Amino acid sequence: MAARYLGAHMPTGRGLDKALPAGAAIGCTAVQVFTSSPQQWKARELDEGLVARFRAAWSESGVGPVFSHDSYLVNLCAPDPEVREKSVLSLIGELTRCSRLGLAGAVSHIGAHLGQGEEEGRRLAAEGILRALAETPDDVGLWMETTAGQGSSLHWRFEHLADTLERCGGHPRLGICLDTAHVFAAGYDVASPGGLAGVLEEFDRVVGIERLRAVHCNDSKKALGSRVDRHEHLGQGLIGEECFRALVNHPKLEPIPIVVETPEAETMHERNVRYLWSLLEA
Ligand SMILES: [Zn+2]
Ligand SMILES: [Zn+2]
Repeated sequence: MAARYLGAHMPTGRGLDKALPAGAAIGCTAVQVFTSSPQQWKARELDEGLVARFRAAWSESGVGPVFSHDSYLVNLCAPDPEVREKSVLSLIGELTRCSRLGLAGAVSHIGAHLGQGEEEGRRLAAEGILRALAETPDDVGLWMETTAGQGSSLHWRFEHLADTLERCGGHPRLGICLDTAHVFAAGYDVASPGGLAGVLEEFDRVVGIERLRAVHCNDSKKALGSRVDRHEHLGQGLIGEECFRALVNHPKLEPIPIVVETPEAETMHERNVRYLWSLLEA
């Protein structure tokens, strides 16, 4: 087993079962995938053959943790009840597919309140989350992502995540995925010297580090506090190398998968994953 779980969000255009060998070939020991098209409500069915091929490819690849990212259309707190219903059903489908594939969890942006206010957004989101958890297998987690707070996206402050966790009774299947570009855009200064360690301490105080399940490791094209979500290749944005070095060497993050979601996957993922490995100190 690798000492660290570093990897990427791998494209699945050539087949879900091809994503893990492709990830392993560019140095991934952890992988995130879409289990269905992220831009469509209608999910693809996973037939038994594909599930079996995926599981076989995974064990052959030597990749460690694999998890999914849910559809971008999901908005558990949409003002329109029909959209909320579709969102809950979509999330139920996602968590069910994860369970069949053996994935530990699905990362979700949860939603945007679209003018209803942060509190009402979290109230509705908690309702949808609890329903989705109640109707899906116990072996898969739902990992809420820290957002940049672009538009009316929920959960751009750690306090907001803590509140949703509380509204869900601290459900044991809920976890958090921390995105470096998002927290930076939301105003958490991970770029300054010692910044990442301080932000993780704050996360621990407010949410609890034991809820952290995954890290999205992205540099940012947009400034601290801009609340605009634009990923950049590692070391080429406004966050910079020190944060990523601190991330891959942080003792508390040893069991946590750290994946890049940077642009131009086909040509640049290998560079970004190798860059992460290069920062790891013996
Ligand atoms: Zn992310
Ligand atoms: Zn993003």
